[in-house]
Amino acid sequence: MTAPLTTARPLAALTFSNAFATLPPAFYTHLQPTPLPAPYLVAVSAPAAALIGLDSNDSSAALVDILSGNSIAAGSRPLAAVYSGHQFGVWAGQLGDGRAILLGDLPARDGGRMELQLKGAGQTPYSRMGDGRAVLRSSIREFLCSEAMAALGIPTTRALGLTGSDKLVMRETPESTAVVTRMAPSFIRFGSFEHWYYNQRHDELKLLADNVLANFYPQLLSTDNPYQALLTEVTRRTARLVAQWQAVGFMHGVLNTDNMSILGLTLDYGPFGFMEAFDAKHICNHTDQQGRYSYQMQPRIGQWNCFALGQAMLPLIGSVEATEAALAGYDAEYTLAYERLLHAKLGLQQTLPGDEALIDGLFAIMQSSHVDFTLLFRSLGNLQLAAPEHDAPVRDLFIERPAFDAWAVQYRARLQQENSVDATRKLAMDKVNPKYVLRNYLAQTAIEKAQNKDFSEIARLLQVLQRPFDEQPEHAHYAALPPDWASHLEVSCSS
Ligand code: AMP
Ligand code: MG
Repeated sequence: MTAPLTTARPLAALTFSNAFATLPPAFYTHLQPTPLPAPYLVAVSAPAAALIGLDSNDSSAALVDILSGNSIAAGSRPLAAVYSGHQFGVWAGQLGDGRAILLGDLPARDGGRMELQLKGAGQTPYSRMGDGRAVLRSSIREFLCSEAMAALGIPTTRALGLTGSDKLVMRETPESTAVVTRMAPSFIRFGSFEHWYYNQRHDELKLLADNVLANFYPQLLSTDNPYQALLTEVTRRTARLVAQWQAVGFMHGVLNTDNMSILGLTLDYGPFGFMEAFDAKHICNHTDQQGRYSYQMQPRIGQWNCFALGQAMLPLIGSVEATEAALAGYDAEYTLAYERLLHAKLGLQQTLPGDEALIDGLFAIMQSSHVDFTLLFRSLGNLQLAAPEHDAPVRDLFIERPAFDAWAVQYRARLQQENSVDATRKLAMDKVNPKYVLRNYLAQTAIEKAQNKDFSEIARLLQVLQRPFDEQPEHAHYAALPPDWASHLEVSCSS
């Protein structure tokens, strides 16, 4: 048991351990980060810092050097891990940490451990054709979204800090570079398991599963078949995670198996997006022309990815039947989680026959009117049961207002069935329907300012997104519909 972390300390004062490196050398390559030329501090997340008892007011050169990989903290033995994966449904073979370097792990406030990883810290043996760097643009997006998702209550890797450099790398145009210091109990992926399965190295596959079980799922070790129990639990976590994404309109954008966390965390933020004008077929990743990772596909893709993990774990679990039994939980877990979340979003306390049709009906009119996802659910909480004449703020979000009126009649009737009270319902709905999400245009504004060395907008957004369910009237403009220029924003895999 780790001693409680009572006082906040600077990062340079902390001593790392290297739990992942207790796996055999075939799992990783020890190497040093490539120094980032003249790094500067862009942002630190105070809530993330608090998780490891770190002083978030520290902006010393020593901190910047550790966050950017320019100096190595005590105890750290940096490494890049190997993994493989299915990309866009196709077996892609070996991938691995091509630009991420694991520093090691630190004790966390909750009694567990947190790994720190530098994303964009230079080439590794797994970089393939890549330069090992990450651009400031996508790093700001990852930094802000990691912390915003955590504040929304959605499992995710965290972002401790962001450092930048004037060093340029080539993408579509030359762009400045950055390092995101990510934090999670583990960065092990579905693709980490697939790697050993497809290389027919079942000894390593077992070592990996045993490591994950011992460190992150010790309660499963005493079950009859811990590997089956592990797959069952990861499948459930994944189903619940995707349900949470659907309920806030989050689209990951690149749900390849190498971006799926064995802990059920949202992992590897790239061309993600939050749904604005609702379209179930919306594709947030410009590179994904087929729409494999569109909003409506995410639940099925989450399941597909669990099947890929199940295939890889088959030699450990021992039979197809037992593997299928573990995977079979996905549908029920997803449906249960999604229905619960949607009931809460609509302020419904009970589950009654006809609720599914009511929810489907809402999504159908959202689709035909392309209503803003976040604004709609947030405004729905203001609906007054006995006063349809006051519906304008929500009704006016629809192009097809008669369609809303017809749905609202059913919704009111349903609320009557459980004697719903306006004020109580609004309070409950405001706790689950965020007012603030990281809209693309908000991130873009912060990015453009940061490219001119003004990091104030990143700090402000971080603050606003830390309290997504609070009204924050002074920040109301951050909840506004995207401006016209934002309709031209495109995000792709290029990062
Ligand atoms: P992603 O699409 O970001 O999940 O990355 C897929 C794979 O490409 C991973 O193995 C990454 O490490 C690798 N990768 C992406 N960008 C780069 C880069 N600039 N340099 C090296 N490897 C990269
Ligand atoms: Mg990735």
